[in-house]
Amino acid sequence: MYTITKQKPFEEIEQSLDDKKVYIVGCGTCATVCQTGGKAEVLEMKMKLEEIGRSVTGWMVIPTVCDSLTKEALIEEAEAVNKAGVILVMSCSFGVQTVSRYSDKIVIPALNTLFIGMEDTPEHFYEICKQCGECILALTGGICPITRCAKGLLNGPCGGSQGGKCEISPDLPCAWQLIIERLSKTGRLHKLEEIIPPKNWGLSPTGWVANSKR
Ligand code: SF4
Ligand code: SF4
Repeated sequence: MYTITKQKPFEEIEQSLDDKKVYIVGCGTCATVCQTGGKAEVLEMKMKLEEIGRSVTGWMVIPTVCDSLTKEALIEEAEAVNKAGVILVMSCSFGVQTVSRYSDKIVIPALNTLFIGMEDTPEHFYEICKQCGECILALTGGICPITRCAKGLLNGPCGGSQGGKCEISPDLPCAWQLIIERLSKTGRLHKLEEIIPPKNWGLSPTGWVANSKR
């Protein structure tokens, strides 16, 4: 499972960098898999910044930027980091916030964080969970209709599916087709008769600071 990211337009990154001297941090886990912040992308960013007259005081690819070991990595690189006015972080927003926690420098994200997901075919990712706070996978054969159905339907397909594909794109499987096949295979098709009530989005952490106790 990875945090899926996409690189911001270079012009936006350039405008966010308040200082000419930049230190770049890449991530060896999710951003490397997404090809948005691994070694190759960090070196490409370095080249682009230097082409527009920025000075890159150093760079590193931390194995997992969101990990607390980032603190030690920043200490090890203190000399090069301190020469920079700004740290450009090529990781998900979790990594950006981790660097912010451990450094007093200006910290700028180079990526947009899209979702938590899986890679199914090379360079294609799909979302796993929207953290709705009220999981219904028991009724849907372990396939989430909130993330995988284009309309987020809770009680069966919309009727637009063609040949097992979603009506919004022939590249996407119809989530409800997958759910029905799965329930059928496991002898649980009767689960479809249970009406799933409208989601109580008040239980979702979206929009407030999430925390939980066991
Ligand atoms: S039903 Fe909710 S908690 Fe369960 S996988 Fe889907 S979004 Fe996540
Ligand atoms: S075709 Fe299937 S996946 Fe697409 S919107 Fe309709 S029910 Fe959802």
